[in-house]
Amino acid sequence: MPNISLSRLLSAIVGDSVYPTKEKILAKPIKHKRGVIQIIKTWKDDWKTAKDQNPREKFESIKILLTHLAESYNKPVNVEFIPELPSCCYNLKTQTISINGTTSIISALHEMAHHLFGSSELKACRWSIWLFKKTFPIAYSKLIWNQHMLVRPTPICPTHQIESPGDSTISSG
Ligand SMILES: [Zn+2]
Repeated sequence: MPNISLSRLLSAIVGDSVYPTKEKILAKPIKHKRGVIQIIKTWKDDWKTAKDQNPREKFESIKILLTHLAESYNKPVNVEFIPELPSCCYNLKTQTISINGTTSIISALHEMAHHLFGSSELKACRWSIWLFKKTFPIAYSKLIWNQHMLVRPTPICPTHQIESPGDSTISSG
């Protein structure tokens, strides 16, 4: 029997569908497709007014962002609002991102990454967190890490949730 640790065995079984560490996520900057950063920077104007509105208005704004991002990859996506969901999620079969009542940017970007690149959590975390870091540097600097998640100093939910200040809760599904 080869001497194999439980964690190595697990990662051999599940690949990188488990949540990566902060170190792995931030190991080196990720290069985003040209235009992606600009889409977000342009959209920030829309978000400025939407972020203080009710969850439905915030959702509508985030839906605009996700639609534009998906278009830039020629990969149309469905975006739906399900306020009572415990966290955002992506359905590969129906190509649908479900946004929950906390409607936050990082979680929306995380699910977008699953839509664009598949089930790898490392890829989804790296793409979404680096994108957020580049486009919301001030908000990013106020976040703290909790395992693979970025949270506000007082996290609301201990399950795999990523939050950003002012943007309410962000989860990674
Ligand atoms: Zn995920």
